[in-house]
Amino acid sequence: MSIITAVDTFDVRFPTSQGLDGSDAMNPDPDYSAAYLIIRTNAGDGHEGHGFVFTIGRGNEVETAAIEALRLHILGREAEELLGDMGATWKLLVHDSQLRWLGPEKGVMHMAIGAVINALWDLKAKREGLPLWDLLSRMSPEELVSLVDFRYITDALTPEEALDILRRAAPDRGERRARLLTEGYPAYTTTPGWLGYSDEKLARLAKEAVAEGFTQIKLKVGASLEDDIRRVRIARETLGPDIKIAVDANQRWDVAEAIEWVGHLAPYDIAWIEEPTSPDDILGHAAIAKALAPIPVATGEHVQNRVVFKQLLQAGAVDVVQIDAARVAGVNENIAILLLAANYGVRVCPHAGGVGLCEAVQHLSMFDFVAVSGTKDNRMIEFVDHLHEHFVTPVHVHDGSYWPPSALGAGNEMLSQALTHYSFPDGAAWTATPSALVNLTSS
Ligand SMILES: [Mg+2]
Repeated sequence: MSIITAVDTFDVRFPTSQGLDGSDAMNPDPDYSAAYLIIRTNAGDGHEGHGFVFTIGRGNEVETAAIEALRLHILGREAEELLGDMGATWKLLVHDSQLRWLGPEKGVMHMAIGAVINALWDLKAKREGLPLWDLLSRMSPEELVSLVDFRYITDALTPEEALDILRRAAPDRGERRARLLTEGYPAYTTTPGWLGYSDEKLARLAKEAVAEGFTQIKLKVGASLEDDIRRVRIARETLGPDIKIAVDANQRWDVAEAIEWVGHLAPYDIAWIEEPTSPDDILGHAAIAKALAPIPVATGEHVQNRVVFKQLLQAGAVDVVQIDAARVAGVNENIAILLLAANYGVRVCPHAGGVGLCEAVQHLSMFDFVAVSGTKDNRMIEFVDHLHEHFVTPVHVHDGSYWPPSALGAGNEMLSQALTHYSFPDGAAWTATPSALVNLTSS
């Protein structure tokens, strides 16, 4: 038996706003950041659990404090007890009646729980000698169902239905695992599409994306209709008819505005419209989906929990479910969402980019292919090519695909020198670049 001896937190921020990487209509100057934690035990095996919440700068200290508020729930506990029943561990954190008041099951506290849960999964996978996707893909349907909290979702997915989905997929897991290792998992890229990039840079990066094997790119839209029409036209002319172009408004519009705006972009053959309006507006998404059909509506990176995903699916308001590794309460809740999507026959194309999100979320899509939906058809994981160098096991993306990680764990682990160098506000990245600090006081 081993004891959890430390839960250390870090406020890590990368001054990405200086290059306008990651800029979109709602987030013009993000400094990609992580509220990060490391769980240590006295097992003497060298394994640590790493997890994080992705934020875009200001407020990362609030998220870090929320993780610290969970420290006493796991410090001094037996690691084997927590890791041995991750369904119970999830409930221990999510159902804390006093912390629950801060949500319930949404926002800063819920995301902090996600980071802790993901750090525990990272530790569990390392201890079991497997990458997370493979660990989950080897669990029995019964074990997987025990990870999910069905409270609030049984009108859309019962434990029996979840078991049926997983049992149907079980016989062919081995065949799909082999396919995953030889074929990879499809990716699309957002690298060309940031709103702060010039037309020339957009066209150059779009060309490069195709040369690198991607079959879909994504452009940020929503700040200026005139600019959007021009940028989407440039992308279409550069790429020809066979490469898909998705657009992402990052919640910029009201419902009627979304319908009208996207109508102007429709002639350029739009693969999906992402986050057209508030992520809480289920009926608004339903109205947009109905008006814009057959253009698919995508959302999820800001969807707070499985309950909102359930309603989006029930209302026919989402055609592309975009799970995020660090928005909901970790691996467990994302398994619930994957099962909900499978039950409704809706495809899942995860949100990634950010910092560490690609590394983390690939495990969930790969698990979904092997053990849940059993398909990669028309599915792909977002890819953005920055900040991967700060991770111990950065993603392998080439030939337009993610390649299954073989390293142990959940992919969350950042290099210790990155944790130090980008530590906010005292790390060298911040003290050596006074101009980077200017952004902190602007809004
Ligand atoms: Mg997006």
